[in-house]
Amino acid sequence: KEVAELVAGHVVDVPDFPHAGILFKDVTPLFADGQAFRQVVDAVIEHHGRSSFDVVAGVEARGFLLAGAIAYATGAGVLAVRKAGKLPREVLAASYALEYGEATLEVHRDALEPGQRVLVVDDLLATGGTAEAALSLVEQAGGMVTGFSVLIELAFLNGRDRLAPRDVHALLTV
Ligand code: 5GP
Repeated sequence: KEVAELVAGHVVDVPDFPHAGILFKDVTPLFADGQAFRQVVDAVIEHHGRSSFDVVAGVEARGFLLAGAIAYATGAGVLAVRKAGKLPREVLAASYALEYGEATLEVHRDALEPGQRVLVVDDLLATGGTAEAALSLVEQAGGMVTGFSVLIELAFLNGRDRLAPRDVHALLTV
């Protein structure tokens, strides 16, 4: 609850971004506050357990910020789940529908060792399409997803249903 309030206090609701009718939750103030950022990173690690994953997968771009910090604090590696066309070598791809528009995510084909345990992190869970694509990529690459963490879950969109039965952890549910 304390962490939920911390997240809530560092989010700015932006109407009509990136399109009319979308209320965008801007989490940049949370990353900008060093103490708050450290608390949310620690809360994610505490929830899953620091030895429950070998790799932290962060979804471009805000997920990268969380993944790097979690990886440094736990000794895990980072898997950067990238937007299409950014990676230089052979890739695996997963396409999905966004809350607004459509997109493709990619990882290098050889990004994971067989059976590696992966924690997937992002700033926000909406429809779950992005997280489901990240899950697909981890599994295509031979890894297994041990859990998900997001700063904010928009519960009314039921994104977590697409990730069942895996553990979906949200610091703030709205
Ligand atoms: P989903 O695929 O679950 O519908 O959408 C989640 C993805 O879109 C995440 O990668 C997240 O960064 C981005 N996203 C969608 N809506 C918002 C929002 O209101 N605020 C932020 N910060 N990200 C959003």
